[in-house]
Amino acid sequence: MKRLVILGGGESGVGTALLGKQKGYEVFVSDKNKISKEYKEVLLNNEIDFEENQHTESKILNADVVMKSPGIPDTVALIQQLREKLIPVVSEIEFAAQFTAATIVGITGSNGKTTTTLLLHHILKKAGLNVGVAGNIGDSFAQQVAEESYENYVLELSSFQLDGIENFNSHIAILTNITPDHLDRYEYDFNKYIDSKFRITKNQTATDYLIYDADDKAINNWLKEHKTSAKLVPFSLEKELEYGAYIKDNNIIININKDKINMPLSTLSVKGKHNTKNAMAATMAAQLLKARKQVIIESLEDFEGAEHRLENVAKVRGVEYINDSKATNVNATYYALECMDKTTIWIVGGVDKGNDYNDLLPLVREKVKAIVCLGVDNDKIKNTFGNVVDIIVETAGAEEAVKVSHKLAESGEAVLLSPACASFDLFENYEDRGRQFKKAVRSL
Ligand code: ADP
Repeated sequence: MKRLVILGGGESGVGTALLGKQKGYEVFVSDKNKISKEYKEVLLNNEIDFEENQHTESKILNADVVMKSPGIPDTVALIQQLREKLIPVVSEIEFAAQFTAATIVGITGSNGKTTTTLLLHHILKKAGLNVGVAGNIGDSFAQQVAEESYENYVLELSSFQLDGIENFNSHIAILTNITPDHLDRYEYDFNKYIDSKFRITKNQTATDYLIYDADDKAINNWLKEHKTSAKLVPFSLEKELEYGAYIKDNNIIININKDKINMPLSTLSVKGKHNTKNAMAATMAAQLLKARKQVIIESLEDFEGAEHRLENVAKVRGVEYINDSKATNVNATYYALECMDKTTIWIVGGVDKGNDYNDLLPLVREKVKAIVCLGVDNDKIKNTFGNVVDIIVETAGAEEAVKVSHKLAESGEAVLLSPACASFDLFENYEDRGRQFKKAVRSL
């Protein structure tokens, strides 16, 4: 019996444990921290051996294969030891994919993964395909492979998940964009992060597709310097393309097969240039999977968008409140500010990931009336925008930030939470930040 050791007892770890057990592995789950009650119950009910608050080396270094959860960096001593012993260390995606023959769409990028994943899943379901959604989003991929038999999967893939693949392949890969993020895990080398994202295409063959943003500098440079076997399917907001998706006279044109799509931009339920790109990518993937044009258009019209991404919360006394808590980097906030069509009170701040705010200056100058800082350390924000915005207020919680914004805003204006930072200084995670914001808005 082969021994599968799983490092990390979270969603992907427990899902992999269930699949491993089903496939006849001797499974051991080890978590350096506490495992949540709910996951412990699953392990106990399935008679899967585990430990928490420790890693017992003797029970780990005898593995035939190790599944490492995406949160664990490669640099920790235990992983180095496993590598020295030549024990394969893979991600959940790699482990699970060997047990399914489903067609896989893999979606990666610095921003837009979740939105594109949910949108594509929505279209494919409406088109009648038997399709699951997993990866960085929602339920574990491995668990779904163990329990369900989908013929297609839409997988949201982070760079950490891609770092742990060897043979995994996506029939259709989508690369939404690449801007600096998570550089602490890549030795502060942007090129290493870019290479990691492009692992999504490393096993693709001539019958596979790579859908990508043809306006993205990092992507274009990489494609010039490297080879991929996949068929390239570009989308662009800036230029007309002979093959791919582009904009002409406020219409989205998709030209990848004889079912050419030409639809007004207003078809899309989600707003902003970034979402136009996400929609182009999802539409082309859906067409490649033979979804019909009319179904695609209807799905783009009635897609509800994803929570915490430019989510309209409420209108209070003529002021619109928008929750974009998922904007944890500057690029995401750039697009949020760009699509604001009202004078804006901007709530920003949190844990800085080495942010350079200068790209935001023109948009802030044009649209932002007041900045409400929501973080422990707001010096960089104050220094960058001090000369551009007259009112900068510091707050220490979502409720306070909303109250201050409410006082500052006049009818016809908008309050936007788009922090451009991680949330861990004041909140559990970005969902918690978004929920607290919404609660505060609703109790105004
Ligand atoms: P991810 O899963 O990659 O983090 P999301 O769809 O959750 O992406 O969006 C994260 C943030 O980035 C949100 O603030 C959203 O408004 C913004 N965003 C979404 N799509 C894009 C895109 N294509 N380019 C830049 N920003 C985007």
